[in-house]
Amino acid sequence: MANKPRVAIFDFTGCEGCELNQLNFEDQLLDILAHVDIVEWREAMDGQADEYDIAFVEGSLSTPDCIERIHKVRRKAKVLVALGACAVQGGVNGMKNTRPIEEVREEVYGEDKYLFPTLPALPLSAVVKVDYNVRGCPMTQIEFLKVFTSLVMGKEPVEATQSVCVECKLKENECVYEKGMICLGPVTRGGCDAHCTSFGQYCTGCRGLVPEPNLKGMEEILISHGLSVDEAWKRLQLYNAVELEKVRT
Ligand code: SF4
Ligand code: SF4
Repeated sequence: MANKPRVAIFDFTGCEGCELNQLNFEDQLLDILAHVDIVEWREAMDGQADEYDIAFVEGSLSTPDCIERIHKVRRKAKVLVALGACAVQGGVNGMKNTRPIEEVREEVYGEDKYLFPTLPALPLSAVVKVDYNVRGCPMTQIEFLKVFTSLVMGKEPVEATQSVCVECKLKENECVYEKGMICLGPVTRGGCDAHCTSFGQYCTGCRGLVPEPNLKGMEEILISHGLSVDEAWKRLQLYNAVELEKVRT
C-alpha cells in the first residue's frame, strides 16, 4: 500500500452514527488525517474518487440501489472494511426480515409503497467480499483505531473470536445474571473489552454472534437463573436477526 493510503467512506442503510463516531475522534482525528488522503466522504466533503486503497462502509444493504452501489465500491477498493453492526451483520435493519417484506413496505410507505423498491436487509458480506470488520452499534472507536493503524502500517488486523464473557471475566466484573439481568455476553463476540458490563449494564449483543454460538448453553443459563428465554431471544433479534436466521436454518 502507498505511504499515504487513499481512503473513502460510504454510508448505506443506517443512522450514520458510526460515521459520526469517526468525526468524534477529537484528539486523534488530526493524526488519522495526517496518515491518509481522504478522497471521498459524503458526510464531510464534496466529490467522488475513481479508486481508493481502503473503503470504510457503514450501513446494511436494503434496496436494489444499495446492491448496485456496493458492487461499484468493491470494484474500486483494494480493501473493504465494514463499519458497525448494520454493515457487519445487518444490525437493527435485520428486524425488517422477521416480517413479510410487503407488509413492512406498506407500513412504512403506505399507498406510495410502489415508489420505494426494498429488499430484506443484508450485511455487506452477503453481497461482496468484506476484508475486515469494525463491530458495535455504533462502531467501537478503539477497534476502528486498531484496524486503521494496522492497515496504515501494512499489517493484518486481527478480529476477536472470543465471547464478551471472556473479556468480562478477565476484568473480574460481577456477572449481571447475579443481579437478575439477562445478558447476551455468552453468545456475543468480544473485542469491546466488556465495555457495557464493566459499567454494570447487560450486553445487548450489538457486536454480533461469536462463531458457532452455543444458544442451547445460553438457554440453560437463563433457565437456571429463572430468566425468560423468550425475552432473551427477542433481545438477540435487535442486532442479530440476519445471523440468527442463518444459525437456525
Ligand atoms: S451500526 Fe448502529 S450506529 Fe452504526 S449505522 Fe447502524 S444503527 Fe447507526
Ligand atoms: S455480565 Fe454478561 S458478559 Fe459478563 S460474565 Fe455475565 S453474562 Fe458474561
